[in-house]
Amino acid sequence: MKSKPHIAVIGAGAFGGWTALHLLERGARVTLLDAWGPGNSRASSGGETRVMRGTYGADQPYAEMAARALTLWAKYERRWKRQFLHRTGVLWMAPANDDVFESDSIKPLRAAKIKFQELSQPQLKKRWPQVNFKGIEWAIFEPECGYLDARTSCQGVVEEFVRQGGKYRQVAAVADGLEAAPFRSLTLSDGSQLKADVFVFACGPWLGKLFPQTIGDLVQPTKQDIFFFGTPAGDNRFTDQHLPVWGDHRDHFFYGIPGALSGDARRGFKVADDTRGPAFDPTSGERIASPETLRFVREYLAHRFPALKDAPLLETRVCQYEQTPDSHFIIDRHPQNENVWLLGGGSGHGFKHGPAVGEMMADLILKEGEPAAMWRLARFKNMMS
Ligand SMILES: Cc1cc2nc3c(=O)[nH]c(=O)nc-3n(C[C@H](O)[C@H](O)[C@H](O)COP(=O)(O)OP(=O)(O)OC[C@H]3O[C@@H](n4cnc5c(N)ncnc54)[C@H](O)[C@@H]3O)c2cc1C
Repeated sequence: MKSKPHIAVIGAGAFGGWTALHLLERGARVTLLDAWGPGNSRASSGGETRVMRGTYGADQPYAEMAARALTLWAKYERRWKRQFLHRTGVLWMAPANDDVFESDSIKPLRAAKIKFQELSQPQLKKRWPQVNFKGIEWAIFEPECGYLDARTSCQGVVEEFVRQGGKYRQVAAVADGLEAAPFRSLTLSDGSQLKADVFVFACGPWLGKLFPQTIGDLVQPTKQDIFFFGTPAGDNRFTDQHLPVWGDHRDHFFYGIPGALSGDARRGFKVADDTRGPAFDPTSGERIASPETLRFVREYLAHRFPALKDAPLLETRVCQYEQTPDSHFIIDRHPQNENVWLLGGGSGHGFKHGPAVGEMMADLILKEGEPAAMWRLARFKNMMS
């Protein structure tokens, strides 16, 4: 690798933006492109907020990765004198009949040195009387986690990238010919060509369309509906002052982010069902939430947060997960082109890891390293045509 290689990063979402920044900070010349801009409303990193947690179950690398990401979020917040992570705490409710996920999370949390408490049902009831803990035996509370500003932090990363000398362009990479070998030059939507030593495609839910032979259906965009409910006037029990971010494993996994007293997240009480929705086209899909999902979410809301039983729906948002078959990320070189990296497959949980993924990518690219087997495309070899 040259001492100052030129690296093109395509996609300025949580993965591409942080990768571009880390590459720049390590001395590369970096050009970052995005078709619609960092955290745009089509991107998987769009919208206001994302959950930052370390609770991840057993046998996974994400608790460690979340711990590294927590350190990096704090480092960049200090450096840039901005806040992205709202440390409200995260509460994982463990049902009486099935707490395997939560029990299995304890050891990795401890190993990653992410602070947490185990709270009993009486402790939960006392601390958050506005929640109905029926059916909940105990919970994990991660006091130093919370929620991240999504779109704002993607934009913040690109602003800093540009301030530090990175080149950002709002232009699209043309999809044709990306799998041709050798690959030295990228055609852009304005008709120009971009030459670089290395190309990183961090195109979220678009990866499969851009690389139909190598990725194709390995990244499935699924429609995910998000609902924001209105809390009673002047009632702060459902804001981030009095309620943490929460996750609730039932037959479906529901999660939510309390309304904020200030800032970008002041949109109401956010609730979503994490179940993977139907296939969705991130470019042309109409972002209209489904009435059935709303009904389902309302039933849940009435059960767990009884005071919000008749809360009016204020806003909805439709986003898409970029789902891989095993929910693990894709971090690998293109099989025909050593100088092309494919980065994505956040699978509904990638955002929080952005700074740590970017750091890992910069190391892999500049030190010409090999990604761990769990990120590589070869793990899907039986599924690829
Ligand atoms: C509803 C929802 C809730 C989620 N909740 C959480 C959560 O609580 N916690 C968490 O950690 N994660 C969460 N996630 C997952 C997380 O947000 C994603 O995994 C992550 O944001 C993906 O980032 P990305 O950079 O890979 O993709 P994106 O953000 O989609 O970025 C890809 C970028 O590539 C650009 N692009 C695409 N094609 C081209 C092209 N041809 N030329 C140029 N640019 C192009 C796009 O404009 C886009 O900006 C959630 C996701 C959704 C949708």
